[in-house]
Amino acid sequence: MLYEIDFLPVGEGESSGDAICLRYSFDQGVNWDVGVVDGGTQDAGESLCNHIDKYYKTDKINFLVCTHPDQDHASGLVCVFDNFTVDQVLMHCPWDYVDYIYDYVSDGRVTKESLKKRLIEGHPYAYKVYELANQHSVPIFHAFSDNQNHSIPCLSIAGPSSSFYLQQLINFRSITDVTEDTIREMGLLRGIMEAAKKAINWISETWEEEKLVDPAPDVTSSENNSGIILLFDFEGKKKLLTGDAGVPALEQSADYLEGQGIVLQDFSFVQAPHHGSKRNIGPSILNRLIGEPVPMDTAPNLTVFVSASKEGNPKHPNKRVVNAFIRRGSKVVATQGSAKRHYSPGTPDREGWSTAEPLPFYTEVEEDDND
Ligand SMILES: [Zn+2]
Repeated sequence: MLYEIDFLPVGEGESSGDAICLRYSFDQGVNWDVGVVDGGTQDAGESLCNHIDKYYKTDKINFLVCTHPDQDHASGLVCVFDNFTVDQVLMHCPWDYVDYIYDYVSDGRVTKESLKKRLIEGHPYAYKVYELANQHSVPIFHAFSDNQNHSIPCLSIAGPSSSFYLQQLINFRSITDVTEDTIREMGLLRGIMEAAKKAINWISETWEEEKLVDPAPDVTSSENNSGIILLFDFEGKKKLLTGDAGVPALEQSADYLEGQGIVLQDFSFVQAPHHGSKRNIGPSILNRLIGEPVPMDTAPNLTVFVSASKEGNPKHPNKRVVNAFIRRGSKVVATQGSAKRHYSPGTPDREGWSTAEPLPFYTEVEEDDND
């Protein structure tokens, strides 16, 4: 079968995001299933629509996925509804799940109605996607690994399970008070990081001596851990899209896949989670998901894509993370300002496109451990 997965660039400055589209065909390109997985920021969403128009030449999107409600993933999806017919939407709708979480989050002063309002106002872009889907009578599929009754070929929802999702939801920023995550999100820590940036010390890293460590389970936000993880199986070629998932979400997803008898360490394509941040991945989960380190100069058997902004360094992608993937037999490609395509032989050529240069193994990585 034929397939192509496109990662489009998001963000001009340091902030990254995901805008991904893909299509696949069982009949040598006569008919295609077309999907969108996150739309990045508003600008990225417009480029995404142009890209689909130009290269997929279709006015129909078979499925649109909003992995999680953060702005760098959800806001670009809005314009897709203006330009295409959408068959179905895969997302989570926290404002519809109030009954499930109310008893766990309420101190008695919050009514169900006000909790619902908070969940709507806290996630304006995801709610906009929800409203547009309803306006266009597009069915919304609540994407959980224990709810696989969608009609999308080749796709398994690899995570989250509905119970794991609800555990994350009760810790969403829209429900809890200001947390460290919120402060980070507001740019306070980023500001401090900026100041520290000038003074980065570089330390050496070798193939044998890994500097990446397992992150603490709570260092990535609940919103990120709540995100939809997708597994496409294109006739045995397995492609894992991770969104901004952190280690707990990836572990939960690995448990699910193993429970389904799906062999791990057998992917041909993996998205490095959360734009290549080292807060979301560590040696243990990598060993489990993609395998142990291999001898240097082993030919890569896995392609890893990272959605990272042009000026995302040193955070996106983190060099220790890039090295960790390469060390485990991967070829790592980052968007960093231009669209990147992963595709099967036989997909149409694109004029002006050349083979992407993979990232190198870095012999020096940042000493600073605070991002
Ligand atoms: Zn993100």
